[in-house]
Amino acid sequence: MKRVTILGATGSVGSSTLDLIEREPERFEVVALTANSDVAKLAAAAIRTNARLAVVADASRLSALSQALAGTGIAVAGGADAVCEAARLDCDWTMAAIVGCAGLKPTMAALEQGHTVALANKESLVSSGAIMTAAARCHGATLLPVDSEHNAVFQCLDRTAPRSVSRIILTASGGPFRATPIEAMRAITPEQAVAHPNWSMGAKISVDSATMMNKGLELIEARHLFPIAPDQLDVIVHRQSVVHSMVEYIDGSVLAQLGTPDMRTPIAYALAWPERMETPCARLDLAAIGSLEFEAPDYERFPALRLARAALAADGARPAILNAANEVAVAAFLDRRVGFLEIAAIVADTLDCYDPAAPETLDAVLAIDAEARRIAGMRVKDCVA
Ligand code: NAD
Ligand code: MG
Repeated sequence: MKRVTILGATGSVGSSTLDLIEREPERFEVVALTANSDVAKLAAAAIRTNARLAVVADASRLSALSQALAGTGIAVAGGADAVCEAARLDCDWTMAAIVGCAGLKPTMAALEQGHTVALANKESLVSSGAIMTAAARCHGATLLPVDSEHNAVFQCLDRTAPRSVSRIILTASGGPFRATPIEAMRAITPEQAVAHPNWSMGAKISVDSATMMNKGLELIEARHLFPIAPDQLDVIVHRQSVVHSMVEYIDGSVLAQLGTPDMRTPIAYALAWPERMETPCARLDLAAIGSLEFEAPDYERFPALRLARAALAADGARPAILNAANEVAVAAFLDRRVGFLEIAAIVADTLDCYDPAAPETLDAVLAIDAEARRIAGMRVKDCVA
């Protein structure tokens, strides 16, 4: 039995992970499930999987969780520290699928226990990649990439030396506004931005896909996961989301991983690694698809991608500031307080007026994150005024 913990069990990635685990109950045992506030969904999942512990990060929801699980024998806890405690419990595999910077401490807690961590929470690596990967090395933890692009790259890396890789090429769908006239982008609503053409995902990452900030975050994520320099990382727009990414070798060979766009495939790869497991995902029918298209990304239309590229090259505190400002701007957009085009503008303004030294500890990252959020929050107010 593989003992698993899911951080962010009620989200899109968390639910897909539960779906796979529940298909093979004889193979998996659930240690802990955590969620932010959706107590009903968390309790239902804990009962279905007979989890040992259910944790709600929003401590004001703890009594509701206790009530929902009364008489089941499932332990309950509440608060952000309790999420980190859950991440520290002994287990064989942890899914880190909390969204945003809230995932940093729980992910770190799991790595410090030397756990095998399937990492969906890309913000962890963007804000604190060097610190997280150093902790993983120091504590003997294993990081398995879940983001579909990085999972594809992971699958395409052969056993040759790292220097035989010449380029990593991340594919991007281009999101719902790949061909929208730029003038029309000003009026984009949250509903339009969240409706991704190929993938069904949480609201924040869906907006990130629409601005292409998601691909920018993924470039930074890739730099920390794989032994590669920033100038060896490329993005190509591929609107069908069938080729999930590619690795180019010094001999000219390019290996790609393909599949239908369903997160259960990369999650299953991480869950069964180093083996494989069955999934119910639709099989790829290339004859029905007919042709696969590729084009260069448009850095004018998607300034967020340009900002992320610059943060990738500059490194230090820049990626943490980029990420924090983006989280604030995306939340304000989803709240209808700022427009779609203002998301990248708020990130750019925050980066312009805040340039601290590179953080060396997770606490330093969190301090930079907090200050960048404060500055971005002021920009949001300026936009609303
Ligand atoms: P989601 O919004 O659907 O779910 C987020 C989960 O995090 C929920 O369980 C929520 O309860 C929990 N959470 C939110 N705030 C929290 C807090 N403050 N403290 C504790 N828990 C909190 O998000 P998602 O789409 O599942 O994405 C999760 C992560 O995976 C993100 O970092 C995203 O970028 C990444 N990712 C997602 C996909 C996808 O297909 N959805 C693909 C690649 C990477
Ligand atoms: Mg991705």
